[in-house]
Amino acid sequence: MRTLVLKKDEDRRISAGHLWVFSNEVDTRKSPLADFAPGEEATLLDARGKALGSLCVNPGSLICGRLHSRLPRTPLDETLLRQRLAQALDMRQRRFSEPWYRLCHGEGDLLPGLIIDRYDGHLTLQIGTAAMEARKPLLVRCLEELLRPVSLRFDNDIPARGLEGLSREEETLGPVPEFLEVPENGCRFTVPAARGQKTGWFYDQRANRREFARYAAGADVLDIFSYAGGFGVTAAAQGAASVTFLDASEAALDLCRRNLEANAPGLSAAMQTLAGDAFQRLGELAASGRRFSLVSLDPPAFIKRRKDAAQGLAAYRKINLLAASLLAPGGILATSSCSHHLDADELGRCIARAAARLGRPARILYAGGQGPDHPVHAAMPETAYLKCRIVRFD
Ligand code: SAH
Repeated sequence: MRTLVLKKDEDRRISAGHLWVFSNEVDTRKSPLADFAPGEEATLLDARGKALGSLCVNPGSLICGRLHSRLPRTPLDETLLRQRLAQALDMRQRRFSEPWYRLCHGEGDLLPGLIIDRYDGHLTLQIGTAAMEARKPLLVRCLEELLRPVSLRFDNDIPARGLEGLSREEETLGPVPEFLEVPENGCRFTVPAARGQKTGWFYDQRANRREFARYAAGADVLDIFSYAGGFGVTAAAQGAASVTFLDASEAALDLCRRNLEANAPGLSAAMQTLAGDAFQRLGELAASGRRFSLVSLDPPAFIKRRKDAAQGLAAYRKINLLAASLLAPGGILATSSCSHHLDADELGRCIARAAARLGRPARILYAGGQGPDHPVHAAMPETAYLKCRIVRFD
């Protein structure tokens, strides 16, 4: 196995437990990156020659190495994959009584570049690195042994694959159904299994949706960026008086109607859907004088890369202000951000800013993050991304 050598003092983050090596940290005189094939295994050395662990290299990527072991000369082989996947499965089985969860959260499960969502017998995989892609046959074998899945779908339409020089074409093994029915918090959600506008279901908000719905009794609910209705439908099933779903996608709003009908049939007459851009629709709602007692705001990531931070922050500020302005006195807002680059303090400042602008005191009742099937690697802030704050505006 070849060695990858770090420049002097570039071992600190890795020694503190982080798993990534950036290309500017490599001593390319001692270990030219061009010598490595994409996905090749290597032993990582510090500048003095001390072994730090084993990693897979992608010479063409900014994150040019990801550690899979703290031991030298350790291949990312079938044995290691099986062990890590079995551990990931065990963690979920201890926590969840039903087989519907994120089974593997990449670095958070010590499997860089691998995301797996489990829908009982159907698995959706997102492979984000050349190293994992090269080990796909091993991975499939391990999963078949461990779970005997009915189908595997490789959702390859993710930006990370572009950075690693991988194809974006979807692949499947076994019969993938058109729809999945996801059980969550006592509801059942129908979502498209394949070729939907999203990969299926956002398991990361499970606990936050449940907390949101505790405020549902008698509430007029607005579910902004609703997708299949995760927040609004859960609230409807817990006694809301009315629900309005807002999403840019008509297909998503069709799912909301279907899921509301299935979980709170009595509320269909008190349901409304609004199609279009949230910024525009919220502005119109505010102008019309309409107010809600319970609002979920769960936008797509406005900051995907650090360089979008300023523009993204402005968008978070604006949408939070718009959403808060629609609250009746004593109304509750659940505001979420899935941008890693918007940290929790910054989201808190967006809330405080909206409250100040509106001249209304805001108090935070609940602070949530991603569910336990999305483990955060303690040394890698990059694996923490979701924040949800439930706030009362008086
Ligand atoms: N709240 C959902 C997940 C939201 S995903 C849940 O609990 O599962 C983000 C959603 O925002 C997607 O459905 C997408 O169609 C929608 N979206 C993206 N940009 C939008 C915009 N500018 N206006 C309205 N909806 C938008």
